[in-house]
Amino acid sequence: MQRRRSLAVDVGGVRVGGDAPVVVQSMTNTDTADIPETIEQVHQLAAAGSELVRITVNNKEAARAVPAIVEGLEKRGVNVPLIGDFHYNGHVLLTEFPECARLLAKYRINPGNTGTRTRDRNFVTIIEQAIKWDKPVRIGVNWGSLDQQLLAERMDANNDLPEPKSAKEVMMDTMIESAMRSTALAEEVGLPAEKIIVSCKLSGVQDLIEAYTRLGELCEYPLHLGLTEAGMGNKGVVASTAALSILLQQGVGDTIRVSLTPMPNGDRAEEVRVSQQILQSLGIRNFIPQVAACPGCGRTKSTYFQELADEIHNYIVKMMPVWREVYPGVEDMNVAVMGCVVNGPGESKHANIGISLPGTFEEPKAPVYIDGEHHSTLTGDNIGETFRKMLDDYVVTNYGKKREPVQ
Ligand code: SF4
Repeated sequence: MQRRRSLAVDVGGVRVGGDAPVVVQSMTNTDTADIPETIEQVHQLAAAGSELVRITVNNKEAARAVPAIVEGLEKRGVNVPLIGDFHYNGHVLLTEFPECARLLAKYRINPGNTGTRTRDRNFVTIIEQAIKWDKPVRIGVNWGSLDQQLLAERMDANNDLPEPKSAKEVMMDTMIESAMRSTALAEEVGLPAEKIIVSCKLSGVQDLIEAYTRLGELCEYPLHLGLTEAGMGNKGVVASTAALSILLQQGVGDTIRVSLTPMPNGDRAEEVRVSQQILQSLGIRNFIPQVAACPGCGRTKSTYFQELADEIHNYIVKMMPVWREVYPGVEDMNVAVMGCVVNGPGESKHANIGISLPGTFEEPKAPVYIDGEHHSTLTGDNIGETFRKMLDDYVVTNYGKKREPVQ
């Protein structure tokens, strides 16, 4: 797949755009002023694989907390770049709290509440701070906070046309205009193009695809993709996947964030895992070995293959922090756990290592395939445990660091 050409932007040592891999990022939902909680959640997001983490910097307490958060993360050995999310008062906070401005790796600015027309001065102040501290910015337009003055002007002008566009078309045009107008202003003030990332988020899948397709044709800035307010549970996952996959398949998108609404006390890191799974399912980047499992059907009444597939998946998730370091390349591994002989052996042969469990009325035997060849057949009560050990051996044998030859 051909990537859209984009400039490369360095965000605290992580490259976004150019020929860099599509970067996974996320955002905390803690009160940034709550330093221990914020450190803990940034750590969790980074441990799950978030390569950039954004925190809101919405008031003086939050801005004041940034140095302690950075220090706390350093003490834990977490060096993920932190992005500050600024809205109405970003110009004040970045000026009054220089350590906050210095320590953040990037500033996110929303032109709907910091820029254009009457508030241009505030927008310019943030850009000047970015120049002073040599930081990149994301100019992030969001339809929920689109510049109302600009929108009203464009709506009025549209009404005077002999054939007015629909309100939705005008809004889309205004979002794109707001993004492009703000990037032009930032460059005019002196921020290099290589310091600018752009986003234009909407909550409708088709709208998002249209907005980013147009943006991608209009500029060379790297694009941050995300469906805003994606929602809870399956709805959020499916809508984000649908929108981001189509754009990524067209080569559009240099960094992604999936904005899921977690359940109260839910796991915030789920949004990181969904982003990774989108990229991995599209064959763009691999993060974790994939476990193929059949959906089950009337040919097997046993739930054992489902339990084993779940167990193996959870085992891989648990081992990945170590495997990633010790066995580079293990993220490319494919594992199959199948329910009967109809598709079991075939799917297992396509995997690096696969097992086909017996269906109803089949012999109580579970053939294991390694690299496409029948390796052995497991029987008895410890099939799962034996298969897990075979998986360990496969990882050690195939992905272990090559030993230096003995002199
Ligand atoms: S592999 Fe067997 S049990 Fe699984 S879905 Fe196919 S036919 Fe059904």
